[in-house]
Amino acid sequence: MSHPAGHTPLRGSSKLRAHCPRCERPLRACLCAWIAPTANETPLLILQHPLEVRQAKGSARLLQLSLRHCHTLVGECFDPAALQATLAPQGPLQQTVLLYPAHEALPGPSVSAHTLVAAQTRLVVLDGTWRKSLRMLHLNPLLQKLPRLSLHPDAPSRYLIRKAHRPDQLSTLEATCMALAELEQTPDRYAPLLAAFDAFVAAQAGFHATRAPGTCP
Ligand SMILES: [Zn+2]
Repeated sequence: MSHPAGHTPLRGSSKLRAHCPRCERPLRACLCAWIAPTANETPLLILQHPLEVRQAKGSARLLQLSLRHCHTLVGECFDPAALQATLAPQGPLQQTVLLYPAHEALPGPSVSAHTLVAAQTRLVVLDGTWRKSLRMLHLNPLLQKLPRLSLHPDAPSRYLIRKAHRPDQLSTLEATCMALAELEQTPDRYAPLLAAFDAFVAAQAGFHATRAPGTCP
């Protein structure tokens, strides 16, 4: 293949793009220092929109590397048979629920965390912008049928809500940790991971000028 004039690949450019073998991110954006091993009781399935895979600020990668029981599938429209097999009851896992706010556009069945048995439940999260996650829901009817778990602001893990955010402004990692803490009734289990995420976010923000509190972007 020929290259346009002036766009010949530079020798050694692959070295500049070297990736960390563990987190698979560019070395200068390696997030391994913030991995907080966490023994989640409820296994997590992350359905990640392809546009999230390379997001430097994406929280799903840190979540996946920290949780003991976590699996990620990347895609927007999944093969129905393969998705059905993935979501099917397996061993002790008899129930699969989708972490998704009840107020969103598509109606669906809802479920409360206190009615679920943590060790028998698989939690599914959609990792993408709200627009993309809604599109994933539209494109995958199987996901629409899953009982939806919404975050409750007055959950027992109340102290985890340490920011003046609405639940729908939380990152995938924060929302998932809150849901798992509520399901497993073990908020302490997720505090170290949330603290590590805060440090990760602070380190990312360190590249930018500090914004005055209360100002909008
Ligand atoms: Zn790394």
